[in-house]
Amino acid sequence: MSIDFSLDSYTDAEPLVTTMLTGEDENEGSLRPRYLREYIGQEKAKGNLEVFIEAAKMRGEPLDHVLLYGPPGLGKTTLSGIIANEMGVNVRITSGPAIEKPGDLAALLTNLNENDILFVDEIHRLNRSVEEILYPAMEDFVIDIMIGKGPSANSVRLDLPKFTLIGATTRAGSLSAPLRDRFGVNLRLELYNTEELTQIVTRSAGILDVPIEVDGAIEIARRSRGTPRIANRMLRRVRDFAQVTAGGVITREVADRALEALEVDYMGLDHVDRRMLRAIIEQYGGGPVGLETLAATINEEAVTLEDVYEPYLLQSGFLIRTPRGRCVTQKAYEHLNIAFYGQQTME
Ligand code: ADP
Repeated sequence: MSIDFSLDSYTDAEPLVTTMLTGEDENEGSLRPRYLREYIGQEKAKGNLEVFIEAAKMRGEPLDHVLLYGPPGLGKTTLSGIIANEMGVNVRITSGPAIEKPGDLAALLTNLNENDILFVDEIHRLNRSVEEILYPAMEDFVIDIMIGKGPSANSVRLDLPKFTLIGATTRAGSLSAPLRDRFGVNLRLELYNTEELTQIVTRSAGILDVPIEVDGAIEIARRSRGTPRIANRMLRRVRDFAQVTAGGVITREVADRALEALEVDYMGLDHVDRRMLRAIIEQYGGGPVGLETLAATINEEAVTLEDVYEPYLLQSGFLIRTPRGRCVTQKAYEHLNIAFYGQQTME
């Protein structure tokens, strides 16, 4: 049987690198580890959490409020579910933009049970009036709500059950200082290394019942830019290729051909990464160029470049950040096969 590996047949496939959850990610649930011992990597964060959870359980109190930060897809939501399981409590999941009014937050908080967890994704996007309700709720487990309107309006104080707020953000820097200060535990999630991602891919393949060779898992891991969500997405796509071309088994060759067809190169860069690096080289002499200018040049949003693309490009040494903007490195020239004549602007 032959298969069409041309790019055209994949143009309407959902992108592998995106901040948004794609349709297939909605089935992510089954791949989510449920306990700390199943959560691969992030040893530092995990070690700290183990101690805090144990101590809170011994005291019979809720866990201190936790702020998780790091690029999308690294396991923040997963970790909040794990914390709930380890603590033996329920978790309610919401997000900053979904809580529009103070009343929405009041409704969420008053419906929690003692020691429950409220997980707020993208907590940096909470609006000001909602955020202000959150301060006394986090500190003293009370909320002040206004009853009525105009001169007859009255403020009523309500007691809340003791709860743990877990906030997740891609950018700890954009949280207001009063909010940031109210989290007792701050955990930064790091991009995963190839070995950890290989374990994640192997574990997911087991759950999805897909036969995979070690080299196939490594190939997917190497190209998934340090991110478990991307690794799992790639695994699903590669599985389709494997089914049609290789009797269902994911080998290194199948992974390689499938990812090549999906325009993910051997370093895990996709066409947006390459456009970004190429634009800096061809239009700005290698940099420095400001993020907004770069975003406008390649017709992407600056926040997407900053939150989704840059972390991996910085970590893998293709890009550096300087006070005057972004510069590419010699490695980027080499990767794109563009002659490098040195850069006066760097160093
Ligand atoms: P975030 O909330 O940071 O965007 P998620 O928690 O939704 O990321 O994680 C995305 C997916 O990656 C999950 O479905 C989960 O299967 C997988 N994942 C994340 N972290 C791990 C990990 N440490 N071990 C195994 N799988 C993980």
